[in-house]
Amino acid sequence: MIPRIQLAHLPTPIEPMLRLSHLLGGPQLLVKRDDQTGLALGGNKTRKLEFLAADALAEGANMLISAGAVQSNHCRQVAAVAARLGMRCKLVLFGTPPEIAEGNFLLYKLFNAEVIMVDRSQRDSRLQEVFEEARSQGEKPYLIPYGGSNALGAIAYAFAFEEMLGQQCFPDWIVFPSSSGGTQAGLILGAKRAGFTGRILGISVDEPQAALQDHVLPLAESASLLLGDPLRFSREEVLVNADFNQLGYAVMGESEKEAILLFARQEGLLLDPVYTGRAAAGLITLVRAGFFKQDEKVLFWHTGGTPALFAQKYSQVLAS
Ligand SMILES: *Cc1c(COP(=O)(O)O)cnc(C)c1O
Repeated sequence: MIPRIQLAHLPTPIEPMLRLSHLLGGPQLLVKRDDQTGLALGGNKTRKLEFLAADALAEGANMLISAGAVQSNHCRQVAAVAARLGMRCKLVLFGTPPEIAEGNFLLYKLFNAEVIMVDRSQRDSRLQEVFEEARSQGEKPYLIPYGGSNALGAIAYAFAFEEMLGQQCFPDWIVFPSSSGGTQAGLILGAKRAGFTGRILGISVDEPQAALQDHVLPLAESASLLLGDPLRFSREEVLVNADFNQLGYAVMGESEKEAILLFARQEGLLLDPVYTGRAAAGLITLVRAGFFKQDEKVLFWHTGGTPALFAQKYSQVLAS
């Protein structure tokens, strides 16, 4: 058994999106509510942290250190877990600090995480330095990689896939945002272990297609080793669509805005401007283009991120 602590509210619900399906005149659309994992406004990182935090505890850590962008959902969840476990937390964030504490940035502060702002070019070196500094000060820091996406984090999504099957949900397609790759690696691993024949399509929010595939594939293989059942994957099994990231990471364009408004107004569902907004824009575009068959069932895996809606950079555009 791989050590795991309970942080998430599981299973997360699966709901039909009847009005959106009808409006688009497309396939049957469903949503898996991993925006409702329960920890500090939820999201896909909660599942990964059940394993990563268990590992930190097993190592006797008293501090969690991680890194991400200014509005990082991952860092928000790490900070919440640290608080919950009575550990300290340091976050190395790249980008421009907001003038007022807003969105995820506000939440880091509420969880009492120490924020270290760096230039994007220095993120790796500063992260390592912060870790070494803490160690030399006698702390027992535990380093959580970007997005919690190492093999240990990824297995969480192999279990999440099993959870979905246990809910008697057998979609033809699963569509979701893919970035640091742990979610996709875990889902394709879970699918392969179950002999699932549907397709799992990651919408890349930043990387080009080949780069993301090259990242996800070895991650899925190393995660399979952790589960004691080594599997090999081919590139064809890592479906990535990178047609929707032209504006660059964390830039909300017209199509993301349209997707956020459609989900809000048709389904009362909140997406986020960086990840699920972009993946939903991709989904909507594919539906309109007739990519899916009419009788197919398409599950949109909602990975969370909604606190970023409340960052001014996005809220001002969304409200206008
Ligand atoms: C981190 C994140 C993702 C991407 O998941 P990866 O496992 O890093 O690919 C998607 N959506 C949201 C809201 C996230 O915070």
